[in-house]
Amino acid sequence: MRIILIGPPGAGKGTQSQHLAQSLGISHISTGEVLRQEVAANTTLGQSAQRFISHGRLVPDEIIFEIIEHRLNQPDCTGGFLLDGFPRTLDQAKQLHIFLEKHGLQLDGAIELQVESAELLRRLSARKRADDQLEIIHERIATYHRVTEPMLDYYLGMNYLQTINGMGTMDTVFERLCAAVNSLPKRRSSSVAYAK
Ligand code: AMP
Repeated sequence: MRIILIGPPGAGKGTQSQHLAQSLGISHISTGEVLRQEVAANTTLGQSAQRFISHGRLVPDEIIFEIIEHRLNQPDCTGGFLLDGFPRTLDQAKQLHIFLEKHGLQLDGAIELQVESAELLRRLSARKRADDQLEIIHERIATYHRVTEPMLDYYLGMNYLQTINGMGTMDTVFERLCAAVNSLPKRRSSSVAYAK
């Protein structure tokens, strides 16, 4: 399966994605995680990305797509993948679509996790990540509403979008997530392997 998980910072995408990818036997790809590794390793890419991450802004699409294209071409992705934190802009969504089409593939669905703002703030304030300081949290949430939410219409228009309630315990949300995955319309993808 090829699924994307969309939601504001603090919606639980990371935890739920890991869990879901494992239960579906597909690769979990988090662009935020890849970026944090690049930052920690102090690579050129990490240095460029850090300037945006530390202000709660989105890293430019070109950098993100380079990461994603490289990652999706790895052999472990041929069996399917769960994208966590990508796409986050309409352009990224369109680029992903072009990439998949080029390889005769399509998404199975896009799942949106909805969580109330007060709960997002509560969850993010309890974490210890460098970009989880209050000012940066506000910027990241605002960026989500301004830039990422409009992308939802793109997936809605293609009948890919399922929205679920992300409030509640991890187990409750996971049950809803599994139900949403099971109710995704069955789509046909060509069997062409896309690595090379
Ligand atoms: P996350 O771990 O998904 O919350 O991502 C942490 C930070 O990495 C975000 O606040 C952005 O600065 C950056 N980032 C992650 N994914 C993307 C993406 N698809 N597009 C742009 N920036 C991203």
